[in-house]
Amino acid sequence: MKERVRTPQTCPKCGQAYTERPAYSRVDGSPICPDCGTREALESIGVSVEEQDKILGIIHEQYKPE
Ligand SMILES: [Zn+2]
Repeated sequence: MKERVRTPQTCPKCGQAYTERPAYSRVDGSPICPDCGTREALESIGVSVEEQDKILGIIHEQYKPE
């Protein structure tokens, strides 16, 4: 059974409200939105911002919110 957390949280990195399970910043361990979590992970392996945008675009196409 999937648990749906509806309480929106605000990401301290990008200021976006999100309701998904948070990711945790590699920098200070604070909860951040899944997008920023993905960006940090990609950045840590040397992926450029342009490539990060492309990858996030693909992720968003696959998980379209209703
Ligand atoms: Zn964010």
